[in-house]
Amino acid sequence: MMRPSTNKLALIPKMYCHFFGHDYVVSKKVTSHVKEYTCKHCKHELTTNSNGKLTELTPKFREINALLERIYNSKSERLKSKTISSLPIYEQV
Ligand SMILES: [Zn+2]
Repeated sequence: MMRPSTNKLALIPKMYCHFFGHDYVVSKKVTSHVKEYTCKHCKHELTTNSNGKLTELTPKFREINALLERIYNSKSERLKSKTISSLPIYEQV
């Protein structure tokens, strides 16, 4: 019997997913609705899209998520300061 090469060993996680399905864990929380997931075995990545469904985490989605995260964080920051000084001021047009 031949000794398994490192190349063959690297294929095992993918084979595991092929037979048993991916085992995703949340790798990043973008907003309260959007999260990024990574498969524990093959490192395949998914994200929540605008329809609330899971889709492959492509570079484009990664970009969108980075933007969403920034908007989300600045919104919650603004919300915090609003509760401190909530004045009914006429906001600029
Ligand atoms: Zn997998």
